[in-house]
Amino acid sequence: MNTVVLLGPPGAGKGTVAEVLVDKGYRHISTGDLLREQIRLETPLGLEAKKLMDKGRFVPDDAVVSMIRDVLKSSESSAKFLFDGFPRTLNQAEKFDELIQSLEGTLDEVILLECPDDVIVERLSGRRTCEKCGAVYHEIFNPPSKGDRCDVEGCELMQRPDDNETTIRKRLAVYAERTAPLITYYEAKDLVHPIDATQSIGQVREAVLEKLG
Ligand code: ADP
Ligand code: AMP
Repeated sequence: MNTVVLLGPPGAGKGTVAEVLVDKGYRHISTGDLLREQIRLETPLGLEAKKLMDKGRFVPDDAVVSMIRDVLKSSESSAKFLFDGFPRTLNQAEKFDELIQSLEGTLDEVILLECPDDVIVERLSGRRTCEKCGAVYHEIFNPPSKGDRCDVEGCELMQRPDDNETTIRKRLAVYAERTAPLITYYEAKDLVHPIDATQSIGQVREAVLEKLG
């Protein structure tokens, strides 16, 4: 089992990059998407997670690690995984290392998407997503071809409840405090490949494909 981690602040473009890596055989695992599915299903985890996510706070490590454990344990050993939004704390990173080791897998790369806060606020404020297929758009930078509808599903696009400026700023503060230390953690393992995520969507995708494609 091979794994790659997409690291970077919320809104840096992890999901947008992941779309092209799926075409290269990677399985895209977004913990945000997994948690939103729990919310949609109104499970106990979903109900608890929603309260935290709406405020820009993290869901407890144990719950998130347990979701990832279930995904990895039920997968083929030959699978290639692309993690987006996980790990997000040092504790999650350590648990992830243990899990990979126990499954005889490897963490091959950590792609770090670097992007300043002001660019992120602009990106997240204009983000639109398809609830059915998870496709990500931006009202200016990556608009759908027809009105406010998903190009794939044709259904109406939605704006995430946590994509408002107050919650975005809170999420950025939480990222700086709890997730940014992972950069040093993975640098010590010589795994980090930084990419300038302020470039256009095409350029960022190309830079990532050059490394992983
Ligand atoms: P993340 O998964 O890191 O939270 P997304 O991939 O959802 O970020 O991207 C956040 C928003 O920014 C989306 O609206 C997306 O269309 C837009 N976006 C992503 N990458 C770029 C880019 N390189 N240039 C401009 N807008 C981008
Ligand atoms: P995302 O879709 O990656 O922007 O994540 C949306 C929200 O889900 C985050 O702001 C957190 O509240 C929660 N979340 C997603 N992944 C994790 C994680 N690995 N650890 C804790 N909370 C998470």
